[in-house]
Amino acid sequence: MKKFFVFFSFLLLAWCQSAPQEGTQKLSVVTTFSPLYSHTVNITKDAATVHNLVPAGTSVHDRQVTPSSAKIMEEADVIITNGLWLEEFLDGRLGDLQAKGVLIIDTSEGIALLEWDPHHHHGEEEGDHGHEEESHGHDEEEQHNEYNDDEEMTYKDPHIWLDVSNAIHQTNLIRNALAQADKDNAELYYDNANEYIKKLETLENDIIEKIALVENKQSFILFHDAFNYYLHAYGLEDQKAGVVQDIAGVNPSPQSLAALVETIREGDASIVFTEPQFSPQIVKTIQNETDVFIGQIDPIGANVSPNAYINNMEYITTELTNAMLLVGSAWLLGE
Ligand SMILES: [Zn+2]
Repeated sequence: MKKFFVFFSFLLLAWCQSAPQEGTQKLSVVTTFSPLYSHTVNITKDAATVHNLVPAGTSVHDRQVTPSSAKIMEEADVIITNGLWLEEFLDGRLGDLQAKGVLIIDTSEGIALLEWDPHHHHGEEEGDHGHEEESHGHDEEEQHNEYNDDEEMTYKDPHIWLDVSNAIHQTNLIRNALAQADKDNAELYYDNANEYIKKLETLENDIIEKIALVENKQSFILFHDAFNYYLHAYGLEDQKAGVVQDIAGVNPSPQSLAALVETIREGDASIVFTEPQFSPQIVKTIQNETDVFIGQIDPIGANVSPNAYINNMEYITTELTNAMLLVGSAWLLGE
């Protein structure tokens, strides 16, 4: 009898642990923005419901929580975040949701982080507002929880997904979390993640090969300072000559604008990249003064879909290398 009871308890325990909600309901997963959505749906395929919070074609900076996204988060089993202040708009909510039993994953955990320059990205001295990591810190009313009390982290660059190795790390963390939350499908999540990681490894090799083909690497000015992980991973750090918006969404001062124009006139940058999520007007002003080559790259991607992350990394690489090849050959021809 005792043996039977132990066996029965084990069954009951196993059932409780493996049931995401009542019985047959699928695991409900929320991702904050497009790259995390891509990683997550490649792991779950149809085995879970995956909602994404930040719509396609908008910046993750300065997001607001809408009533519908608040409801989606409250009904979630798992919330997948980038971490590092990127989801500043969720501050104060994640702690409460975790207390209610939602599993919250910070995919930046364990990643080798790059430094931010606090003068450029904090905006505290000028009292500016607008970037993900600057406006959180010194509000007396703010709730202190594990998601917003680490000052150190405000000096780290949050755009981690732009290095494919980091995306693979994030995929592994998401897989582990989903397998833990939904044990019935754990094996499926592992198999799907392996398949997706193979695609990411191919992507990474393609990026390295394409950049290696550019012999005459041109220097460029980025729209906002989102690409440090990409530049660091693929050997283009020396090509970054400046940034149009030190704080995402905030146009440069007349002095900063004059300095960018000077950088281009002195030949220290020959390309300026716009980003589709921000108005290109200020870049047109720079172009009118300098006739500089304008390209466009996008840190997040134009849509929210299973292939969006890989497609966008290919797009960034194509735009960067094409611009460098075009401007480089024009330079060789003496134009
Ligand atoms: Zn940014």
